[in-house]
Amino acid sequence: MNTTDFVVECHTNISDRHIEYVQSRGGGINEINIFKVGCIKTKVDECDKNCKVCDECKLSAWSSRHIDKITYPIISYSGSVIGIQARSIVKKEYDTFMISRRPEVGFFGLGQIDEIFKTGILWVAEGPADAMVIRRLTGQPTIALMTNTIGYKNDRVKFFTRFVKKVYVCLDTDQAGKEGKKSIISLVDHGVEVFDVKYTSSQKDPADTWSAVGDEVLKKRLLSSV
Ligand SMILES: [Zn+2]
Repeated sequence: MNTTDFVVECHTNISDRHIEYVQSRGGGINEINIFKVGCIKTKVDECDKNCKVCDECKLSAWSSRHIDKITYPIISYSGSVIGIQARSIVKKEYDTFMISRRPEVGFFGLGQIDEIFKTGILWVAEGPADAMVIRRLTGQPTIALMTNTIGYKNDRVKFFTRFVKKVYVCLDTDQAGKEGKKSIISLVDHGVEVFDVKYTSSQKDPADTWSAVGDEVLKKRLLSSV
């Protein structure tokens, strides 16, 4: 099974416990559908030859280690799944599977590409929970980088300059997040408008902020940047 089919299967299999977990971090059913979130019910099969080295065999081994974990797909702009993050819903622990040949850049949430292209707007967070709460409260296209940087002078920068006119930055408030913010602000040199969203004064990220202040306050803070 390839990663794209696997993500569809995981999304179809999502259980009430996993939905509750997403909701406890500020996301909703609509976001679960938009971001194709799921859970791993069973290990998937190896390839016919059981070669152990192809992506199908590697995905099989990876899936067997992450039964019952939630899945956050990393999607390219043409809609294929280039990676999957599996995260435990009972402890802070995650592991990311990436396919070996990645022709295009991908993010958590790039299934929204048509909306991104149409509006030119993109909210950018670091983690999946952050992206889902921002999407729910703003109703606008949102992605998670899944790392704290867009990198510089690479295909990620090309993606932003090609598809996005306005970027709302909601990275984590730690040192790494601040560094990442600098690399996004450098997009200004490529004609992209960048807004530094002041979503908190004391929390680490948007999802933690939501836990502390709730819908109304966080929504007001996010939209005051627009
Ligand atoms: Zn194989």
